[in-house]
Amino acid sequence: MINIVIFGPPGAGKGTQSEKIIEKYGVVHISTGDLFRWHTKNDTPLGLKVKEIMNSGQLVSDDITIAMLREEVEKNPDASGFLFDGFPRTVPQAEALDELMKSMNQQIDAVVELDVTEEEVRGRIAKRKELEGRADDADDKLERRIQEYFNKTIHVLPYYKEQGRLSTVNGIGEIDAIFASISEVLDSKK
Ligand code: AMP
Repeated sequence: MINIVIFGPPGAGKGTQSEKIIEKYGVVHISTGDLFRWHTKNDTPLGLKVKEIMNSGQLVSDDITIAMLREEVEKNPDASGFLFDGFPRTVPQAEALDELMKSMNQQIDAVVELDVTEEEVRGRIAKRKELEGRADDADDKLERRIQEYFNKTIHVLPYYKEQGRLSTVNGIGEIDAIFASISEVLDSKK
């Protein structure tokens, strides 16, 4: 049983590495961004509530986000662990996650930060855009998400760092080499 939190800005390769973690460790993936997108796409009451705020690139309130996450965790009582992706984004969310784990007699075992500078992320995205030869209104949204990460999400890291729970992995290099570093962290926590 291993419960993992992964942090990283858009363009850091978080999606790729998450897939590898899920495959190797058999954990259930919970991405609050994916969950919110599912709700907005399907026009559920929750989706209608958060649509505007998501479109503006801002964070959904802690109350709503924490309730949705808790429900998702409770839907998977037989999970052999979770990979939390996109959550927590605030200190109250991090505290709520610890409490939730505790109520299940579990804990967050590993907090992995994929360390990629803002400059590198911007460089990667520019390169991708050049290859795809497109520039569209998704750019604005992406820009807001990058800013959201470096201005807001990043402030959750000290919460884990101060408790000696943060593992920072260099996110620049070959996909497999980065995954090897992540595996090393996870294997040491199992
Ligand atoms: P993501 O795909 O993780 O970047 O999430 C997309 C959007 O969903 C974000 O820009 C927020 O509006 C919302 N969201 C996802 N996770 C959270 C969270 N933990 N707290 C607040 N809002 C979130």
